[in-house]
Parts: sequence; structure tokens; C-alpha cells
Amino acid sequence: MISFAFTDEQEEFRLTLARFAHEELARGYRERASRTDFPWDVHRELGSMGVLGIGLPEQYGGTGVDDPVLLGLAAETLAYGDVNVASAPVQIGLVGSQLALGSESVRQQYLAPLIKGECTVAIALTEPDSGSDAAALQTLAEPANGGWRLRGEKTAISWAMNAAAALVYARAPGSSRSQGVSCFVVPLDAKGVSRAPILGMGCLPLGWGSLNFDDVFVSKDLLIGEEGSGFANVMHHFDFSRPALGLLCLGAAQASLDEAVRFANHREAFGQPIAKFQGVSFPLAEHATYMEAARWLCYRALWLRATGQPHTDVASMSKWWPPVVAKDAIEAAMKIHGHLGYSAELPLQQRLRDVMAYLIADGTAEIQKRVIARELMLRVTKAS
Ligand SMILES: Cc1cc2nc3c(=O)[nH]c(=O)nc-3n(C[C@H](O)[C@H](O)[C@H](O)COP(=O)(O)OP(=O)(O)OC[C@H]3O[C@@H](n4cnc5c(N)ncnc54)[C@H](O)[C@@H]3O)c2cc1C
Repeated sequence: MISFAFTDEQEEFRLTLARFAHEELARGYRERASRTDFPWDVHRELGSMGVLGIGLPEQYGGTGVDDPVLLGLAAETLAYGDVNVASAPVQIGLVGSQLALGSESVRQQYLAPLIKGECTVAIALTEPDSGSDAAALQTLAEPANGGWRLRGEKTAISWAMNAAAALVYARAPGSSRSQGVSCFVVPLDAKGVSRAPILGMGCLPLGWGSLNFDDVFVSKDLLIGEEGSGFANVMHHFDFSRPALGLLCLGAAQASLDEAVRFANHREAFGQPIAKFQGVSFPLAEHATYMEAARWLCYRALWLRATGQPHTDVASMSKWWPPVVAKDAIEAAMKIHGHLGYSAELPLQQRLRDVMAYLIADGTAEIQKRVIARELMLRVTKAS
């Protein structure tokens, strides 16, 4: 029998997070979103609630149970209150699962405090000349006595300004494309590292910025996983961050749609609540429908991953479409609020700007469609 139900444990966790999102996060969202300071207070609270250790090893404070569905559920539920704060479990899931492949000293130094919410670690893949075509990265890792020397620049990096360290992808001299790329955890106070903020149209508290590595020495114990396996590792993890980010956007859109429904029920025009006009209620119905479909697409990708089934295509579907669905729903909610929707006094304009980040971050729609098309061709060719 087919089931769309969450387990009792997942539902219990969801209710706890929903309470936190509604009662704590929602009221501080606009204030936090207007500043570039990292919200350490609420981030630490997420740590104490166990949100930052989902799927990560128990001995470093994680849940020890690989549960990608729960990770998506956490992101969606928290984003109802604050879409920026809610991105933390996804980012930590992505970073933590790679740190878990590091040396014991790396795991003690970074993984345990990351799960507690006491430090952040950025993921630095994008460069000024390589974004969508990530395999074209040019940062060099030159072998040196006892380790490597890194030279290069990373840009558009979330958490660049607040992170204690970054996972840096760099290639062996003479290598090309995805071959020869290794992942290193680089302390951002190391000699030769500099960082600079980049101001985005949203997501300000995420501390977006660029990182420069000028002949930075990294010792052997800072290598993550096998030498040369960095590119394949990070790509594998994107398959769960993509649906989780889809759900993150949908959580913010759900808050906006609920606000629009409440507003439409009491705002009057032409002698009656505007909800009585089909020109208002039909867009609400349509966006609710798209959101329902997009939501279950994301959960299906996470469920496929949880059950060990191929999911790269569905993960990419969950990253290109749900953020678009979410952005359109927030825009519709804004318009239903009339002039108030455009006002900075309501969170709608802020959510729109924050959610639009995910039309680009973690791979644009075009790149996701490229992945889906490739998987489609492979499947159909294999079957014939
Ligand atoms: C808010 C935010 C947070 C981010 N956080 C991080 C982070 O933490 N770490 C990190 O490493 N990176 C991060 N990024 C960078 C992000 O991953 C890249 O911006 C993204 O992969 C696109 O790369 P690009 O910006 O260089 O665009 P480009 O690759 O230059 O693409 C430009 C345009 O061309 C299109 N295009 C490119 N190739 C093709 C193709 N083959 N077919 C069709 N269209 C194509 C793209 O879709 C896009 O519209 C972040 C970006 C944003 C906006």
C-alpha cells in the first residue's frame, strides 16, 4: 500500500519545530533578515534542539540515523518562521557529511561544534570563472612538505563571513575537469586566507562573501576523504540538499499563502471580503495546488534517497521547480495584500528576495534540467 505519512517520530519533531517557527522565529525574521550579522542566538537554539545533527554521526552529537526526509521536514517547517535560519540544517547536512570523512582531529575540531551550533563551516566550490561548470575550477593544491599549498579564489560563498573554516575544492597541478579535485577543510584564520563580504538582494544573515587563498598551507590531516575524490563526493551530497532546499522555499511560500488567505478573508472591497472574488480565491487555489505537488516531489526525492534508490533526476526536479513555485506563490500573496504587500512592514517582500537566492544557489534551473535530461537519456537508452 502506498503511504505519504511521516513516522510518529518525524511528526513529533515537526510539531516541536513548527511551534518554535511560529512562536519564536517568525516575529524576529524581518529584523534578522535586514542585517548581515549571523543569528548566533537562534542558531545555537537549533543546535540544542538537535536540528543541526540530522543524519550525522552520534559520537559527535548527531542523530546517527540517516534520515533525509527528516532533514527536509526540518527545513520546510522552520522556513515558515525564518527561511534564512532554516537553511542551517541543509548547509550542515551538506558540510557535516563531508567532514565525517575527515581525520579524527577534524571531526573533533569542526564536526562536534558544528552540530552544537557553536561554529559554522562554509562550502567553497564556486569561483569567479566557474559556477555552473563547477568542474572547471582552477584553485590549485600543490603538494608541499607535509601537505599542500592552496592558491585561488572562491566566490558567492554562504557563511564566508561567519565560518571558522571552509571546505575548499582544489585541483592537483596538471589535472583537468572533475579528475584530481580534492576537498580540504581550511581554517579561515590560516596565514594567506582573506575574505570579503558580498551584499546580496536577500539572505543577508548568511554572510555571503568571497574567499582568497594566497599560498595557504594545509596539512595532510585536513584532507577530506581520498585525494582526488572531492568532486564526486560533493556532487553525491547535492542530491539530498537539492530537495531539502526545494522544501525550504516551500515553507516560506506556505507562510505567505496562509497570510494571504487570512488577509483576503477580512479585507473588504466593493462591500465584501476580497476572498469572495474568484480573481482572488482562484490564484490562492492554484498556488496551493502547485505547492502541494512540488512538496511531494521533494519528499519523494528524499524518500528515494532514504530507501537507497536512484534519485539524482528527482532531486534535480526538486531543485528547479519548487523554488519557482515558491517564488510565484509569494509574489501572488504579495499582490493579494495590495499596497501592504509591497510594504517593508510585512515579511512578504523579504521572503521573495530570500527565496529568489535558491533560483541560483546549489545549481540554477538550467543546470538541474541538464541533469534530468542526461538521466532521462541514460534510462531510456538502457531500456531499449
Ligand atoms: C545566495 C547564493 C548562495 C550561494 N552559496 C554558495 C556556497 O555556499 N558555495 C558555493 O560554492 N557556491 C555558492 N553559490 C554559488 C552558486 O552555486 C552559483 O552561483 C551557481 O552554481 C551558478 O553559477 P554562476 O553564478 O557562476 O553562473 P554561471 O555558471 O556563469 O551561469 C550564468 C547563466 O548561464 C546559465 N548556464 C550556464 N551553463 C548553462 C548550460 N549548460 N545550459 C544552459 N544554461 C547555462 C546559468 O543557468 C545562468 O543562468 C551561491 C549562490 C547564491 C546566489
